Amino acid sequence: MELTPMMQQYLAAKEQHPDDILFFRLGDFYEMFFDDARLVSKELGLTLTSRSGNKDKTPMCGVPYHAAETYINKLVGRGYKVAIAEQIGDPKAKGLTKREIIKIITPGTVLSESALKDAQNNYIALVYEKQEDIVLAGADISTGECFYGMYRGGNRVQMLLDELYRLAMPELLVVGSLSFLPALRDFTNLRLPGCSYTNIDEISSHVDDRIVQHFDASMRPQSQEAKEAVATLLDYLHDTVMTDLTHLNRLTYLDASENLVVDTYTLRNLEITRNLRDGGKKNTLLDVLDFTETAMGSRLLKKWLEYPLLDVLAINRRLDAVEELTKNFALREGLRKDCQEIHDFERLLTRIEVGTANARDLIALKISLKCLPGLRTHLKEVKSLMLSQCQKRIQSFDELVDLLTRSIVDEPGISLRDGGIIKNGYNEELDEYRRVAHDSKTMLQEMEEREREATGIKSLKIGYNKVFGYYIEVRHSGTNLVPERYIRKQTLANAERYITEELKAFETKILGAHEKIVAIEYNLFTEIREQIKQSLAAIQSTAHEIAVVDVLASLAEAASNGNYVRPRMTTDGEISIKDGRHPLVERILTRDLFVPNDARLNHEDCEIMLITGPNMAGKSTYMRQVALLTLMAQIGSFVPAREAAISPVDRIFTRIGASDDLVSGQSTFMVEMNEVAQILKYATRNSLVILDEIGRGTSTFDGMSIARSVIEYMEQKIHAKTLFATHYHELTDLEDDKIRNYCVAVKERGTQVAFLRRIVPGAADKSYGIHVARLAGLPKAVTRRAEEILSELENGSGESVRGAEKQNIEGKTPASEMEKQPGDMMPSLFASSLSETLLSLDVMTMTPIEAMNELYKLQAQA
Ligand code: ADP
Repeated sequence: MELTPMMQQYLAAKEQHPDDILFFRLGDFYEMFFDDARLVSKELGLTLTSRSGNKDKTPMCGVPYHAAETYINKLVGRGYKVAIAEQIGDPKAKGLTKREIIKIITPGTVLSESALKDAQNNYIALVYEKQEDIVLAGADISTGECFYGMYRGGNRVQMLLDELYRLAMPELLVVGSLSFLPALRDFTNLRLPGCSYTNIDEISSHVDDRIVQHFDASMRPQSQEAKEAVATLLDYLHDTVMTDLTHLNRLTYLDASENLVVDTYTLRNLEITRNLRDGGKKNTLLDVLDFTETAMGSRLLKKWLEYPLLDVLAINRRLDAVEELTKNFALREGLRKDCQEIHDFERLLTRIEVGTANARDLIALKISLKCLPGLRTHLKEVKSLMLSQCQKRIQSFDELVDLLTRSIVDEPGISLRDGGIIKNGYNEELDEYRRVAHDSKTMLQEMEEREREATGIKSLKIGYNKVFGYYIEVRHSGTNLVPERYIRKQTLANAERYITEELKAFETKILGAHEKIVAIEYNLFTEIREQIKQSLAAIQSTAHEIAVVDVLASLAEAASNGNYVRPRMTTDGEISIKDGRHPLVERILTRDLFVPNDARLNHEDCEIMLITGPNMAGKSTYMRQVALLTLMAQIGSFVPAREAAISPVDRIFTRIGASDDLVSGQSTFMVEMNEVAQILKYATRNSLVILDEIGRGTSTFDGMSIARSVIEYMEQKIHAKTLFATHYHELTDLEDDKIRNYCVAVKERGTQVAFLRRIVPGAADKSYGIHVARLAGLPKAVTRRAEEILSELENGSGESVRGAEKQNIEGKTPASEMEKQPGDMMPSLFASSLSETLLSLDVMTMTPIEAMNELYKLQAQA
């Protein structure tokens, strides 16, 4: 096939980036060809055409360059990567225009304002395995942060997965091969759908260069593996974004030993930052606490929630500041008002750094910087250490504000290529050209007047269009008066257009001036942008301090609004809460309906709270509440309670609520047991463990035995503070000096039952299941019959019912009997194992989902 030079150029560019969609700039369009065109036309609903004049019909589709961002964002949002090939040099020059790939936009490296969510980071992460170590490196190039973590030991894969869940990155780089790739894939499919993978064959070749180039000595990692991971990530970012990334200058180590570890399961089930319904923020703890005014603050609050602290001193520093702000309303209001005016500094700076900032961004920067002196003045009166540190660290940038005030017009347009961004009086040369342009306008009006008089044509006027430039227009009725010096240019339906020598000369001058103005403005703009870059690091760190102030003020606001108290942080290992409330449920229930509850857990006389009580009584709300309050205290937040004294815990484990891990092909019971196994393996004396209805997914005796032995193990081996809810009343006889029985108070009057939602010492004696069934609207006939059966059971009669249960329990043995005579009944080995499995199922206690799961598994075996 004979290819045009342009197509050869296209194919050469495509060859460099075979896996990316190539947006190839042709004049005012970005065009895509071949498979890219087919894919994009399908994804974006664009018309697929073919290149004209090409007999081989190259499939093609295109988007106008000025609207390209929207299309690119859509593709990137769906996990694609887009390479942008631009025209380099003068497109009007003779011969083939040069084109080069100037950047690649990927899900983890988008910088377009419209693609990024304000209050969320947009991370990219890299995973690298070297012998027994897993290294994670990550960055958010839109805010300029970079970090790494190292995972060792038996729990390393889980620790990594938990970290990835917190990061929720849209793009994951995998270096070389990973021994745990299937587990990683399963996890991202389930928990981070839409995360796109990129394989990197090997680590970067200039490891030390990259590290030294970006980070101060104090931040550089010690270990070679960590350096390799970070450098490889930076290399990828450089190759993708293709600009300087000096704003990536903060490297932090994700040190799990400094934080309260909250695993994916717990983060999800306690709905800390994402809700279970749609993964959004609504009705999460973050939602309850978020009164931040800036995007930076909102992102930081999320981080505090996902990485609570362990160190009492550090927690108290935060609490001191929050306390000061709750008490000093005027100060809080003042600070929050200051913050309202502050734009997303971190992302503004990034756009300045990579050169995509426009004049409006600089105005946003100016407005934000202008707030700083006021903020500092407000902060002058603070007493708490943390706020006064912020006061000291927040700089004001008066010179920059002055520069921006003098140079950039207050309401500039979006484009940098249309002029109109630099103020008069800022640059002499620019002013001069503007004068020429301005004078020309008057000159033009004068010329029009003059020509009208000289020719006597009343309809004569001077106009301009892009194709012909300036012209004199005369209606047909007046053309007989047109003098000879008029040169005809264009004929319209009702008029003729002409030019004259004078008009031509004028045009050259005026257009020249305009071009000059745009060019000078553009240069001045880039100069100003460069000047701002000098202060990049200083503004970045000021931005961070603003985020801290914003979060502290937000926590104080939440505390005041919600009537929270400051928790007393202790080191005696006790969690003691008086009249605690669930921060989310209390918000949803109207009319002060929420019933507060106490909690006291310690290693002396109440390590395990064994809570029995009917369904719907409020057990899991209570247990979640204890976990949430502990976590809130550890981020430095006040808590919804009358009083609280809390010793920090090292991990919060939960096994609570319905599991939705079924997609991964395991049965509910299996998933539950996996989670319990994790807890028993990794919980320590300093952990807080919440177990809700353990053993529910199997037969009664099985379940009860498991529940009992788990409690015993917790008491004898682990000594973690534990809340254990169960409907097995038989377990209440476990009560001893460490295990305490609690139940939910119930008021009974005749057949009416009211759950008082109050957790009190003692064991529940009834399950009230039939009551709940009635509330749920089961037909009367059914609940009535259930009551009959229940009373038969309680009275020791009801042989038929008992018989059924007995049969069912004994039902597990026949399989072994059958094994004795396989030939008689079983045609094959498969059928034998099939019936064995079938017989071992406890159909009476299975939920429909569990039954489906079992069927699915049997089918898979077939
Ligand atoms: P259980 O775990 O015992 O089945 P839940 O904790 O799910 O019960 O609570 C059932 C419902 O009771 C919740 O949806 C909530 O609306 C309400 N509830 C729970 N605790 C309280 C409380 N302390 N005060 C008021 N209502 C509560």
